Amino acid sequence: MGMRGLVKDVERETKRAQKVELADAHCHLDLITDHQLVLEAVNYGVLTIVTDGIDLVTSKTAIRISQLNKNVYAAVGIDPEKALYLEGMLVNRGVEDIKGLLKSNSERIVGIGEIGLDYTKAKDSSQIKRQKNMFEKMLDLANEFELPVSVHSRESMDDVLSILKEKGNKKVQLHFFEGNMQQAKDSERRGYMISIPPIDSSKRRSIIKDIAIDNLMPESDSPVVGATPKDVEKSVRMIAEVKGIDFERAAETLVSNTKRFFNIGAKPGFMRS
Ligand SMILES: [Zn+2]
Repeated sequence: MGMRGLVKDVERETKRAQKVELADAHCHLDLITDHQLVLEAVNYGVLTIVTDGIDLVTSKTAIRISQLNKNVYAAVGIDPEKALYLEGMLVNRGVEDIKGLLKSNSERIVGIGEIGLDYTKAKDSSQIKRQKNMFEKMLDLANEFELPVSVHSRESMDDVLSILKEKGNKKVQLHFFEGNMQQAKDSERRGYMISIPPIDSSKRRSIIKDIAIDNLMPESDSPVVGATPKDVEKSVRMIAEVKGIDFERAAETLVSNTKRFFNIGAKPGFMRS
């Protein structure tokens, strides 16, 4: 095929993609200062966006953004990096603050996140202990309020999986999944969702290949990795290619996975009570 034909194909693909509904299961809109970019993503078709907080301030911002934009839903929580700085009374204070948000803004909050463990950030056993302690408390909150969790893991997947098992949380999104195949398979067996960022790699492709599409969700993790939620298109395209299905069909399945996971639109006009 000549270059012109190829270009035409790309153009047609792009046009086609633009009409397809997409969902972004994890991002940080509080870090995107130009709100126009978010509106562009929505206009492009990203009609469901879950934005995560990493502490009290950013969780409040996530809720605020979700109140201003009907396509955006909030997850609230304290992430492992912030957990490093909390000890003693500050731990319970932090947990109580998040609990306060859950009680007062429950209709816009669809999950607890971002939470988890990050051993690239924890330097010694006492810091790891702080992260584990906060992670466990966030999982308890999720169980208490019957909310799904968005979990961050760096070089800590074994501990993440064992704590999740211990706590018994059922609805788990392994955000920016970086585990190995065995861990992916264990997660699939438990019914967890493996979340795929818009970064292509052969390891990621082999995991996508061996995990059922019903256990996959697309995320942009913008602006940390993707630029805006629109970049979930790259995750969806990668999943479609590996699964050997149409982009449209992959998008449709992944949107419904995301909505089901976060209980979005379960009933008309219903978010969560
Ligand atoms: Zn994140």
